[in-house]
Amino acid sequence: MIRTYICIKDFPNTNIKVGDEIEIEKLDDGDYIIDGAILTIAEITYEYFKKKRLEGWQYSPYSHSKIESWVSCPKKFEWNYIIKPPRVEMPSPILEKGTLFHAVLEFHINDNLENFDIPDQFKALTSKDCEKIIEQALDFAETSSIYKWIKNLPGKKIPEQEIFLGAKLEPVETLEVSLIRGFIDLLVYDEKTNACYIFDWKTGGKSKEDLKKWPKPKDQLELYAVWANQVFGADYIETAFVYVEHDYMAKYIFEGSDIDSLKKKFKDKIHNIETDNKFVKNLSQLCLWCDFKEICIGIPSNVDPRSLTKDDVFNSAKAFSKEQKPTPITNSKNSNFLAKIRDKSTKTS
Ligand code: SF4
Repeated sequence: MIRTYICIKDFPNTNIKVGDEIEIEKLDDGDYIIDGAILTIAEITYEYFKKKRLEGWQYSPYSHSKIESWVSCPKKFEWNYIIKPPRVEMPSPILEKGTLFHAVLEFHINDNLENFDIPDQFKALTSKDCEKIIEQALDFAETSSIYKWIKNLPGKKIPEQEIFLGAKLEPVETLEVSLIRGFIDLLVYDEKTNACYIFDWKTGGKSKEDLKKWPKPKDQLELYAVWANQVFGADYIETAFVYVEHDYMAKYIFEGSDIDSLKKKFKDKIHNIETDNKFVKNLSQLCLWCDFKEICIGIPSNVDPRSLTKDDVFNSAKAFSKEQKPTPITNSKNSNFLAKIRDKSTKTS
């Protein structure tokens, strides 16, 4: 992705000086290309440049998941977007499955499958896994009555629609002036009737029954509705999470009269993030699946989350915070507890 950066330190052996705005591309492998010519690594890039952001908003651009990360645990937000400790990225078959499923449907919806190619960024999936997932996606596309209904909707179908909302949650043109950025998996807009449909493909979920019983919060769809209402002047917007492995759709309808209160809701959430100066830990069982559990609460990153409990989370966090405070006496109780937790990780890794 190419973004505008601002030079914060004269870049050696070039004419790039402090204050210059430069296009920098981040490559899939994590390297950067500065000004279309200089290939370099992240550390060098961030020594000399910072991303250009919407003025007055220190953590912009936000995404739905960025906002939700603060809601679920402010500390996690701080680790992820402010402190940014070096992390070993663990390839995730679940995430890669979602990406591949999305890719197949993106091509299928506009009858463009002949141009589909397996994306080459997968690290966790083997080519056999990919084949299976593609078969599953095609099976869904061929047999699902929900998908058939979506495909037959009148209007233009736009997969992977990127959206930008500015400081007043109004549609804007570029990332650099965005307060919020998002991607709609599938947008269907019918000019004749001014009807607008928004779909988000979801993989995962235990069963249809569970999805009905514990519906996912619809904030992501609300955000898309705010954008579509203003871009198309659509007063009636149908949105849905489509659970592709369960042939189930959780549908939500928004009207023009909802938009002001939705805008206020997102502005308030972002205001809370921007004014947070504590970023407190929200300890829960979910810490076991958190990428920062080792540096945050002392649970080794390679521990099998299923081998520990919520009590282990609380005990480890308590012992870890005491261990971090300089004390002349070794707290053998804490050390023993942490040693026990770490021992579990070596056995399960
Ligand atoms: S380990 Fe828990 S408290 Fe720490 S950042 Fe992760 S979720 Fe938050």
